[in-house]
Amino acid sequence: MKKILGISLVTLLVALVVTCLLYFPFGLAKQVGHQPIKLSKQAENKVITKASQSASTTPEKQEEQAKWVKSDQPIKFPILMYHHIADVVDGNTLFVPASEFKMEMAALKKAGYYTLSPDEALRVLTTNEKPADKIVWVTFDDGYKNAQQAAAPILSELGMKGSFFIITGMVDNEDKMTQESLLEMKKNPLISLESHTVSHIDLQYATPDEASRQLTQSKTYLDQLLHQNTSVICYPSGRYNDQTGDIATKAGYQLGLTTQPGLASRADGLFALHRVRVSYGQTESSFMSLIGN
Ligand SMILES: [Zn+2]
Repeated sequence: MKKILGISLVTLLVALVVTCLLYFPFGLAKQVGHQPIKLSKQAENKVITKASQSASTTPEKQEEQAKWVKSDQPIKFPILMYHHIADVVDGNTLFVPASEFKMEMAALKKAGYYTLSPDEALRVLTTNEKPADKIVWVTFDDGYKNAQQAAAPILSELGMKGSFFIITGMVDNEDKMTQESLLEMKKNPLISLESHTVSHIDLQYATPDEASRQLTQSKTYLDQLLHQNTSVICYPSGRYNDQTGDIATKAGYQLGLTTQPGLASRADGLFALHRVRVSYGQTESSFMSLIGN
């Protein structure tokens, strides 16, 4: 009798627990779901902004979603090259107006492009695996103030990454980023700051000693100021010679960018990566066709 009573009691308890477990989550969800939540237009907008921010703009989120997949074919991808992001002055092709830049970034995002950080680009090139079907690396040469002021907010708004190449001996010059702004940009996880030498020297004709000094000093400056391991050297005016890659490796760099037109490919060498120059005057379709769409 005692035994039967015991078993019944246990059965009853189990049933109770199971009922609780089943009912409560759904019951709660149901209640919340049915409650009409009235939001003012302003509050509604706030909620939408917040939701879209957490969904798309944090790089951590993008990395979480990124699933690296090895490719059968050698991976090639576009490294976009920009300089000034500002209204065009005297037809200078180094300028791209902010409105065009924004249109181009939005077009990339719409087409499903994943923007790479320098570390991610290195991983793509060395392991031949990629975090998304479509990948792109957005780069800016010379460290212009207007690129920081116009491009960085657009990248942040769209949750896209960008790398800026700094001429370390020209920091604080009138049209260049200041040391303070470099420190400010460093706080943005979407932004990377890499080297463009100390004085924008021509690395093709520099002596090995001078090239080494320029690569080492600019790296040390950025490493110390920003507490990072600067890993990319972007050759001024795209000029380099047979020794530049070795000198850069000895200085501690892992990738070197040129201005040779075309997609980046391991086959060209990690210190001779090609880029796609973006000039002003693009439409969405002409821009997308630049990178093979
Ligand atoms: Zn340059």
